Amino acid sequence: AENNEILKLEQLTKQFGGIKALTDVSLQVRSGEIFGLIGPNGAGKTTFINMVTGLERPTSGKIFFQQKEITGKSMNELSSMGMVRTFQTSKLFESMTVLENVTAGMSSKLKNDVGMALLQNQKFRAEEEHAVNVAYQLIKLTGLEDKAFELCANLSYGHRRLAEIARALASQPEILFLDEPAAGLNLKEREQLQALILRLRDEFGMTIFIVEHDLNLLSNICDHMAVLNFGVKIADGSPEEVMRNPDVVQAYLGRR
Ligand code: ATP
Repeated sequence: AENNEILKLEQLTKQFGGIKALTDVSLQVRSGEIFGLIGPNGAGKTTFINMVTGLERPTSGKIFFQQKEITGKSMNELSSMGMVRTFQTSKLFESMTVLENVTAGMSSKLKNDVGMALLQNQKFRAEEEHAVNVAYQLIKLTGLEDKAFELCANLSYGHRRLAEIARALASQPEILFLDEPAAGLNLKEREQLQALILRLRDEFGMTIFIVEHDLNLLSNICDHMAVLNFGVKIADGSPEEVMRNPDVVQAYLGRR
C-alpha cells in the first residue's frame, strides 16, 4: 500500500502571528481515490489547501508528492508536476469563451513543448488545433458543450465553476484539488459535479482532493475523509466511520 500513496503530509503546522491555523496535521492520500476534507468555518481548510498547493509555506512539517518532498515549492512548480487546483473565486478570463479559457489552460504546456520560435509555423498550428480538440473534449466531459462558444462573462455561477474544472483538467493533473466546488451550485449542477468527479476517478484514474462544506456531497462520493476542527485533525477514515465519529458529530454538525 506504501507505493500506492500519491500525497503525504507530515505534521503540517501553520501559524499566523499568534494564531495557529493548523496544528500537526498528518494525512495520506492514495492514488486514484476521492479524498474529502471537511470542517466548520475557520477550521483551517483554506489554509490547508493553500499550503499543499504551494500558495503558502507551512511554518513546519513536510509535504510529499509521489514520494518526493515538495515542501515550499511554488504553485507553478507543483502544477507542472501534476498538482492542479481550482479556487473558490473564479479565475476565468471573462471576455474569452469557455473553449478559449480551457485551451489557454493547455497553451503554456504546448508553448513549452514546441518553443516560442515555432509559434508561427505549421507545427504549432497543428498542435494548437489538437489543443482545441482536447479542450472541447474536456468541456464535453464537464457537460458544458452547449456553452463552449459562450463568453465566460455570460455564464451562470454554476456553469462557471464547471468551466473552472474543465480548465484545470487542461493541465493534465495527476491530483486535482477542488476548493469548495459545490458552493453556490443548484441541485442539478451538484449532480453534474458529482458525476464528473466520479468519472475522473473511474475513467481517468485521477486522484481528487476536495475541500468542502457540503457533507452530503462528500459522503456520497468520497473513498476517504478527514475532518478539521480548530486547525486539528479530529477524524480520518471512510465516510461511514467519519460520520459516526462522536467528535465529528459534536464539532461539525453540532455547530451548524
Ligand atoms: P472557511 O470555511 O470560512 O474558509 P477555513 O476552514 O478555510 O474557513 P481558514 O480560512 O483556513 O479556515 O482559517 C483558519 C484560521 O486561521 C482562522 O482562525 C483564520 O482567522 C486564521 N487565518 C487564516 N489566514 C490568516 C492570515 N492570513 N492571517 C491571520 N490569520 C489567518
